[in-house]
Amino acid sequence: MKKVGFIGWRGMVGSVLMERMKTENDFGPFESYFFTTSQKGLAAPKYKNTHSTLLDAFNLDELKGMDIILTCQGGDYTKEVYQNLRSSGWNGHWIDAASALRMKDNSIIVLDPVNRPLIEQYIDRGGKDFIGGNCTVSLLLIALQGLFRENLVEWISSMTYQAASGAGAKNMIELLGQMNAVGECLNQNPGTDALLLDRKMTSLMHSQDFPKENFGHPLALNVLPWIDVELPSGQSKEEWKAQVEANKILGNASEDIKIDGTCVRVGALRSHSQGLTIKLKKSADIKTVEELIQGANPWVKFVANNKAESLKSLTPAAVSGTMNVAIGRVRKMSMGEDFINAFTVGDQLLWGAAEPLRCVLKMLI
Ligand code: NAP
Repeated sequence: MKKVGFIGWRGMVGSVLMERMKTENDFGPFESYFFTTSQKGLAAPKYKNTHSTLLDAFNLDELKGMDIILTCQGGDYTKEVYQNLRSSGWNGHWIDAASALRMKDNSIIVLDPVNRPLIEQYIDRGGKDFIGGNCTVSLLLIALQGLFRENLVEWISSMTYQAASGAGAKNMIELLGQMNAVGECLNQNPGTDALLLDRKMTSLMHSQDFPKENFGHPLALNVLPWIDVELPSGQSKEEWKAQVEANKILGNASEDIKIDGTCVRVGALRSHSQGLTIKLKKSADIKTVEELIQGANPWVKFVANNKAESLKSLTPAAVSGTMNVAIGRVRKMSMGEDFINAFTVGDQLLWGAAEPLRCVLKMLI
């Protein structure tokens, strides 16, 4: 029976992964070992065939005992442990949610609905490093798979609206803390007119007491137009990932499809949205575009371009906690016949993170 080590299982991505594995009855055909960076020796979660205590995630000897390591711990952990483990002679399969190894030549970015044949070829070639893609990139590819498959896309401008939980558990809790402070301020000022409330809230946002240790800035009542570090190109690293990762997932040898835009953190709790301008390689009628998008995979949910359906079904509130990747607002744009407008939203913790890792774990088992 294979031994699988889980690291980062109590974070945002990890806990969603555990929930999915429990729901789908995945535990059992392998032995599970749970590792921690902070709680060594405490009781491990109780699933079928699980070692009872938490092991030290930095102990190379214990990690070396695993056939498969699945980590959702983050890039700093990967950078600290992965190379040392490989250098020590460990030749197991490494599955990772973090970006650290995504663009390495010998790794594959896994996204089952889009590149399963490439994953199978990679396994047959003896590939060992399976990395989950950036959440917005994975969701974009699932939403537009029908257009990519027909080689219709020349470029995409993607403006994102990314939820707080995309930055991790502590950040999501911080957003709720900020909202709580807003609620308390409102309760302390009953009957106050809107303009005065606006001043009070703005002053609250800028005060020392407003909780912002993790985001560094207010997110409640605000938007943050920068995610991840700065690059010399003027892009944020989150923006840079779109083009390089999408082309790698699609198996394009060069960066054939150009994707760029502004990535923005918004006060949604869960699920990332993206407003898209899609430049087609050639004009196609809108019915054909809709049909290609709708039929691409079981997860894409097409939303008719009208107000009622869009407000009901094309929001984080509608898709969070589901496997659906909704896409709507699909129409031709005034720039020309080959420009398509679209808006897509999907749960960044499911198809954007945990689910592709779960699929590859099942393939390896
Ligand atoms: P996270 O929620 O911050 O969890 C990472 C680790 O933080 C946990 O495994 C846990 O490690 C520790 N931790 C400390 N305080 C915690 C608390 N209050 N609740 C839960 N865990 C706590 O990180 P994440 O968002 O899952 O991201 C993990 C990796 O996946 C990152 O590389 C990220 O870039 C990538 N990713 C994230 C998303 C997303 O939507 N969040 C999407 C795609 C990819 P110990 O148990 O060892 O202490």
